[in-house]
Amino acid sequence: MQPPRETTLDTAPQHPVPDQHGVNLFDSDPDLGRLLPLYLPAPLLQRLLPQLQRLGGLAGGVLDALAQTADRNPPQLLHRTRSGVDLQRIVKHPAYVELERVAFSQYGLAAMSHRAGVFGCDTPLPAAAKYALTFLFVQAEFGLCCPLSMTDSLTRTLRRFGSPQLLQRYLPRLVSQDFDELYQGAMFMTEQGAGSDVAATATRAVPDGDAYLLHGDKWFCSNPDADLAMVLARIDGAPAGMKGVSLFLLPRRLPDASANAYRIVRLKDKLGTRSMASGEIRLDGARAFLVGEAGRGFQQMADMVNNSRLSNGVRAAGLMRRAVSEALFVARERRAFGRRLIDMPLMRRQLLKLLLPAEQARTMVFQTAEALRRADDGDAAAYALVRVFTPLIKFRACRDARKVTGDAMEVRGGCGYIEDWADPRLVRDAHLGSIWEGTSNIVALDVLRAIRREGSLPALDQHLRGLLADTPLQAEARRVFDDTLSRTVARASRVAEAGERGDALARQVASALYHLSTATAMAWEAGGMRSARRMRLAQLVLRQRLLPQDPLGGDEAEPGWMPALLDTAVDDAVVEAVSLCA
Ligand SMILES: Cc1cc2nc3c(=O)[nH]c(=O)nc-3n(C[C@H](O)[C@H](O)[C@H](O)COP(=O)(O)OP(=O)(O)OC[C@H]3O[C@@H](n4cnc5c(N)ncnc54)[C@H](O)[C@@H]3O)c2cc1C
Repeated sequence: MQPPRETTLDTAPQHPVPDQHGVNLFDSDPDLGRLLPLYLPAPLLQRLLPQLQRLGGLAGGVLDALAQTADRNPPQLLHRTRSGVDLQRIVKHPAYVELERVAFSQYGLAAMSHRAGVFGCDTPLPAAAKYALTFLFVQAEFGLCCPLSMTDSLTRTLRRFGSPQLLQRYLPRLVSQDFDELYQGAMFMTEQGAGSDVAATATRAVPDGDAYLLHGDKWFCSNPDADLAMVLARIDGAPAGMKGVSLFLLPRRLPDASANAYRIVRLKDKLGTRSMASGEIRLDGARAFLVGEAGRGFQQMADMVNNSRLSNGVRAAGLMRRAVSEALFVARERRAFGRRLIDMPLMRRQLLKLLLPAEQARTMVFQTAEALRRADDGDAAAYALVRVFTPLIKFRACRDARKVTGDAMEVRGGCGYIEDWADPRLVRDAHLGSIWEGTSNIVALDVLRAIRREGSLPALDQHLRGLLADTPLQAEARRVFDDTLSRTVARASRVAEAGERGDALARQVASALYHLSTATAMAWEAGGMRSARRMRLAQLVLRQRLLPQDPLGGDEAEPGWMPALLDTAVDDAVVEAVSLCA
């Protein structure tokens, strides 16, 4: 009889599944380093590079591990202390608190747009710097980016519309990097009967001396235990509809340190962003302060919402980059049928399909950030541009992130579906981007609103023509870019002018404008970076997203202009695009 074969548990597997944990997500993404000089002045970039490099290392290692732990240990709402005192608090896992410490304190991500001093800089940092850092941070942790963005956005709105007294009382702590001192922000807008339709807001505001007492239910409140929240409510006697909605600042604690009169009723059990608490709040006469003008609550809140929408676009870009970097790593390391996955033509084609929307989103982040900087400096055309860029990135990048994270998960095979890996978390988190801060329909309609009311289309047209003029292109390629620009802008204009009939096409127009903007800006970046590969990616966006295609044609049926645009066949572009990204 044969003796039973011995098995040992500590035998190393012969084919371990590839794991890129510990990779520096800044160093492993050379295009990020090459793009930044186009959007940031050289001295600032020099100062930022060590920070980006360090954050890339943290995001690929320790922050990623903390994020996974925080995701598995969602916050809990406690209503009483152990000695029986009614005192609500949300218990956050230490891993999440550590993530907060890095984002708010070490990196000052919520403070850097509002004051000098972060990284020793003598001015506040431009949006492109904040978003480059956020782009790295979110590759590890998505949930916390909501409180970060809300704190940043609340501070911006308070600075624009808040009274000097409110600013004096709250601003120093909102922009603090002292972890024990700092205040976090939130935004309580949505009610059961008022989500997209903010005009249906029913929460009441009853005047009480120099403040108001709020009564009502807020149905979705992320970061519900935040120190300060912007809240929409209707002052008693105010007219119905949007004109009756005002904006209030709601502190969690009153100036005498007592708890304000509102209750977190329960926390939501969410598909994603599980590390971060979202709850329902009952306002029982909570004391709040009017911000800005009564009856202009929605217009003022729109500034905060737009800032959050842009941040959502940045987060979607980061999620896609993380998904792509995981997929590229697996494809290079994993072998099947005696070959690396990346050497298989069909896999390369799929990888390019992941890479393209991720690169589009990254370009849109920096284009919007740069326009925002100019708009904040008083440039009216830049303001009109930001007004359309913001819903464009929120709409398209958040939708693309759902698909890219899902398809990247498949590149890891069965392991992609297993919670040991980042892929399922990325997929779950990515689905939220299209819902909160305005669903896809609502932000697509906002693109048409920006065209109708803010003169955004001529501003976009002028901006893109300026980029093209600054881009080295062959004559035929220039003609294709110019024609596509004219046709897309004309189409968007017709749809916007068609009133409610045109609304049905809002998403189609938003997608077209996004693809047009990213293709053009990527071509411009390609010129600045002297990168033939980026130029090819730009041209692929044009070809695959905006120009007519024969679904049965395949790559061999290239349109006549294509060889002029791409001096090699598309397959070569695929190989190069992917392999050079490694
Ligand atoms: C995890 C999470 C956290 C959140 N955190 C916050 C928060 O901190 N603060 C806050 O205020 N809110 C928050 N929200 C709420 C979120 O912003 C809303 O859920 C969202 O705006 C949609 O509103 P609603 O749920 O009422 O849906 P509805 O407005 O009822 O929309 C339902 C559907 O109708 C569509 N629709 C509505 N109007 C139109 C139209 N005119 N044309 C075409 N389609 C239309 C929408 O696109 C959507 O598909 C959060 C939501 C989630 C899921």
